[in-house]
Amino acid sequence: MYPSSINITPYLEDSSGYRGEAEQVFTPSNVSQVRDIVDDARAQRIPLTIAGAGTGLTGARVPHGGWVISLERFRTIEIGRGKARCGAGAILSDLHEAAARTKQFFGPNPTEASACIGGVISTNAGGARSFRYGSVRRHVLALEVTFMDGQTRDFKRGDRVDFPIRNIRTPGTTKSAAGYYLQPNLEWVDLLAGSEGTLGIVTQAELQLFEEPAAILSGVVFFATSDAALRAVEAWRPIHELRVLEFMDGHSLALLRSGYPEIPTHAGAALLIEQNLRSENDEEVDLWTARLADAKAFEQESWFGFTAADHERFREFRHTLPAMVLDMVRRNGFPKFGTDFAAPLDRNRDLYAYYVQRCEELFPGRYVIFGHVGDANVHVNLLPANHEQAKQAEHLITDFACFVVSLGGTVAAEHGIGKIKTDLLKLMYLPDEIEAMREVKRRLDPDWLLGRGNIFEP
Ligand SMILES: Cc1cc2nc3c(=O)[nH]c(=O)nc-3n(C[C@H](O)[C@H](O)[C@H](O)COP(=O)(O)OP(=O)(O)OC[C@H]3O[C@@H](n4cnc5c(N)ncnc54)[C@H](O)[C@@H]3O)c2cc1C
Repeated sequence: MYPSSINITPYLEDSSGYRGEAEQVFTPSNVSQVRDIVDDARAQRIPLTIAGAGTGLTGARVPHGGWVISLERFRTIEIGRGKARCGAGAILSDLHEAAARTKQFFGPNPTEASACIGGVISTNAGGARSFRYGSVRRHVLALEVTFMDGQTRDFKRGDRVDFPIRNIRTPGTTKSAAGYYLQPNLEWVDLLAGSEGTLGIVTQAELQLFEEPAAILSGVVFFATSDAALRAVEAWRPIHELRVLEFMDGHSLALLRSGYPEIPTHAGAALLIEQNLRSENDEEVDLWTARLADAKAFEQESWFGFTAADHERFREFRHTLPAMVLDMVRRNGFPKFGTDFAAPLDRNRDLYAYYVQRCEELFPGRYVIFGHVGDANVHVNLLPANHEQAKQAEHLITDFACFVVSLGGTVAAEHGIGKIKTDLLKLMYLPDEIEAMREVKRRLDPDWLLGRGNIFEP
């Protein structure tokens, strides 16, 4: 027999607030137990949902009945030079700490560090540092995966998928987590990353690590208006070794002021930056004075620092915002109405202008916009006050999705499709492209038992 969790309630939701139900939750501690669970589920045709840490924002790990399999006992982390071998249940913050002890780091930096390795791989998560390092998929070197036929296979980067797939279009964005990555010469690790727990159960992964730079400059730069900040984004994107370029609008700053009274009173937007340096005396540091002046940023009142404590303070500042928004959403009692769309970089300002125009029309004072502006992937969060507004929010999100698709963008830049965005995928891809994805699903999970309801309906 395999271990199960006594209390299944925590596994019936994720951070989106989406809720489901399940008969049992299993918490295997080795691959042989994973295979036994898969064999029993297949024999009895019981749907199987894979749980990570539950920080997902799309209901992807929330079961629609059947069994849940949680990899929480797979917590090992072994650090090598340039790579880390992790159990799927290892927590991102533990990886960060272990890598830092060897003066290395994991490139993409998904904001929610309590996510687990299986989760960030399966959603092809992105983060603040994806601006320079890309999303998680790019950093997966190897995977150990159990499929629904009960076979466990090891894949290394370079191992090609050994059955025919049909290629689909890619959006013109720097990141996307919308459906399967069906590209020419597809490798197994690229197919499985971003497959949202629908193709196989990841038990181990090898991830790429980078050497820590000699020094890092980090900062929070304040501006009078969003417009000034967005113009600075365009000027600053090409800066050498810039690795973070994040945005907060005036409503975000207003929310944060309760915890951060030092935010300048007349600031209407902020950019968070991080830059790799050769040393604290790097000539790059001096260039920021002119950059701030050219961008009409608040030169005196912006915050800069070099120490680990500074980086942590600014990281915490950034993380507090989505956490506060989620908390407000929960207290309001409505689902989360947030976007995870990205546009081609040169359409970033068009998308932002459309967001603001529509939000001001329908949700004046009840929205925040923040996020990964370096990748043209800012998140709009709508905060409806009543049921009528909640309905309007639903429609507005669909309007935003249509607009972003018309710009050549993606309806899921980093959170995935999960269960709550399957309709949006249909706006982005033609029926035949979605059918190409479903062919892969049928090939690897013919009874459609794994992650049922994610990405597309069975
Ligand atoms: C405050 C906050 C900030 C966030 N910021 C970001 C951000 O900056 N960038 C970003 O990308 N996301 C962000 N997220 C969303 C979330 O953290 C990510 O989607 C994360 O990757 C989910 O990981 P998890 O372990 O919680 O996975 P879960 O939510 O538990 O599961 C997510 C998906 O992964 C699958 N899965 C989990 N483990 C495995 C496995 N071993 N094998 C196969 N499939 C598996 C599940 O079935 C499910 O489909 C944020 C969330 C919060 C609450």
